[in-house]
Amino acid sequence: VPGRIEVVVGPMFSGKSEELIRRLKRARIARQRVACFKPDIDLRYHRTAIASHSSQTYEAVTVANVERLREELYPQLDGVDVVGMDEVQWFDPSIVGLVLELVHRGKRVVLAGLDTTFAGEPFGSIPQLMAIADEVAKLSAVCMVCGAPAIHTQRLGMSRELVVVGAAGMYEARCRGCFRPFLDEP
Ligand code: ADP
Ligand code: ZN
Repeated sequence: VPGRIEVVVGPMFSGKSEELIRRLKRARIARQRVACFKPDIDLRYHRTAIASHSSQTYEAVTVANVERLREELYPQLDGVDVVGMDEVQWFDPSIVGLVLELVHRGKRVVLAGLDTTFAGEPFGSIPQLMAIADEVAKLSAVCMVCGAPAIHTQRLGMSRELVVVGAAGMYEARCRGCFRPFLDEP
């Protein structure tokens, strides 16, 4: 029986974690056995759960990288029907091969992640995962400037480091018209 790849993308605050949690909770209601993971770069709120900005949580194993994820998952794989992962943009490119292995072993794989960086460019392996998915849900947030549907994540302040995690108020959702990828532009 083939599995299924579902990818949930959008900017920060678009409800990706909420949607992932919703799907995993429904899987559990259907008596599916669920395993959920997230990279340890995302420690907001919880080390042992994924959490949405609206405070919903779902238990998850925090892993340093794809290799650790594999080591955690494979010993229990026969007892798992659904594999969830949040913040997938932070995993290294070997995530694509792992997801394909899982789907060929009949697993339903539900992935959530940012589709673009704060520069507005494709983020990590998310574009490839979208390409091989059975289903892609692209969510929008609410633009914090004008209220329109927002597809971008705006970084506030001056840092140009790719990885700046956790600091509240450092990012906001913006529509295409209000997005300023280059911070020095008006
Ligand atoms: P993501 O995983 O995409 O960052 P979350 O699922 O963690 O999103 O959070 C979604 C929740 O964030 C919404 O239900 C809402 O309560 C809250 N929220 C805060 N700011 C915004 C915004 N600008 N647009 C939409 N939702 C927002
Ligand atoms: Zn706007």
